[in-house]
Amino acid sequence: MNDKKKTMPRTLPVLGDRFAVAEVTGLHDDDDLASALDGCQTGHRIKINADNDVSKRWRALLHETMHGALYVTGVQSVLDPNIEEIIVQTLETHVNQFMRLHGTAYLAAIKGDV
Ligand SMILES: [Zn+2]
Repeated sequence: MNDKKKTMPRTLPVLGDRFAVAEVTGLHDDDDLASALDGCQTGHRIKINADNDVSKRWRALLHETMHGALYVTGVQSVLDPNIEEIIVQTLETHVNQFMRLHGTAYLAAIKGDV
């Protein structure tokens, strides 16, 4: 993968809504200043911990866009935050494994779909 592909997007669509993405250093849990976060999503804004390596930053971006999708659909507002986190972690792990095994074939097969 070239360096351009490793660069995080500054904005990206999530289910049709535009989200802003910022890479920030020293990202932490507001309720626990000692807890470093890989990323967080608030409304249409996503923050990614710039202190992490590129792999962890991209995984965090995938993870936070899943929170974003739940936000856009309104599902986030009716979920307990702990349940939401379990759902997002489960889906992130699945999508990551699926893409590792079948990502190239999947992207080739859907190429041209709208
Ligand atoms: Zn999360």
